[in-house]
Amino acid sequence: MTGEIVALAAAGVRPGLAAVLVGDNPASKVYVSSKIAACEKLGLASIQVTPAASITTAELLAVVEDLNRRDDVDGILVQLPLPPQVDAKKILDAVDPAKDVDGFHPLNVGHLVAGRPTLVSCTPAGVMEILRRSSIPVDGANAVVLGRSDIVGKPMALLLMQANATVTICHSKTRDLPEVTRRADIVVAAMGRPAMVTPEYIRPGATVIDVGINRVTDAALASKYFANFPERLAAFQAKGSTLVGDVHPDVANVAGAITPVPGGVGPLTIAMLMSNTVKAARLRRKNSATSTASSPANPAAAAAQR
Ligand code: NAP
Repeated sequence: MTGEIVALAAAGVRPGLAAVLVGDNPASKVYVSSKIAACEKLGLASIQVTPAASITTAELLAVVEDLNRRDDVDGILVQLPLPPQVDAKKILDAVDPAKDVDGFHPLNVGHLVAGRPTLVSCTPAGVMEILRRSSIPVDGANAVVLGRSDIVGKPMALLLMQANATVTICHSKTRDLPEVTRRADIVVAAMGRPAMVTPEYIRPGATVIDVGINRVTDAALASKYFANFPERLAAFQAKGSTLVGDVHPDVANVAGAITPVPGGVGPLTIAMLMSNTVKAARLRRKNSATSTASSPANPAAAAAQR
């Protein structure tokens, strides 16, 4: 990615990410500030738009349309959740698919389903990167995805299938979950249920990817989750809160490989967002150069291209 940023800089392009943060949800603020910090670290431009929580759908649509038009904006992310009075689907559908670095637009989702190159949702793309970098075989593996949300579970299952895994998608109505997950070589947990996946869900040696991020503030729960991890319990007691995934910490004792929470999938999600922003900047410049070159309004360029 750094090489691509250098090449774009040589061509006078500094990819820019616009983050729309509505209201003052503390978790959203933390997520957006880590995304902005990542931009700064890589030398990407970043713009933060922070409308009040009382914004209407029409007003937020106008914000998105303005960002769609701006040439210095290559990627747009609208931090979720949005306030209840805002039609989130309408807002996400309004983002220019070429700037949809979260990969949520139906056009990009459709490309993913069809196996065409596209901007892919960052968390599942990050999971694939973790599997690749950790040399975990996916081809032919039995993979179970826990959760079927549009932003994690569904795209995750598609990416695993495209990498030749045999994929089972589970959700809140799945019967006998531990029996299903015990057949898996790879388990991806994305339910938003703190520490739900316990050791009996996992075949010894399986790879476990924990997408969940849940804040724990209850001392009794912390003692239950971290009974075998005195250093995590001590850190909780010092701070009064901690993060736990959807996978119980004790699973580390049976899994062949496991991603930690915090510090596993989360940072990779941000890395993929940066990568999507750089990709969007490259593709947008390439596409606009192609359309200018072939436009009848620019016959000289069109002739040169021929
Ligand atoms: P979501 O939209 O709430 O979806 C949760 C999914 O889990 C649903 O499909 C639901 O099933 C399923 N589920 C809930 N309870 C279940 C149970 N007891 N057994 C089996 N399946 C169950 O959540 P999400 O947005 O996908 O996020 C999931 C988790 O990932 C959250 O902890 C979130 O904070 C975290 N997350 C992390 C990152 C990151 O960067 N690391 C990014 C995004 C999300 P139904 O469809 O039947 O309701």
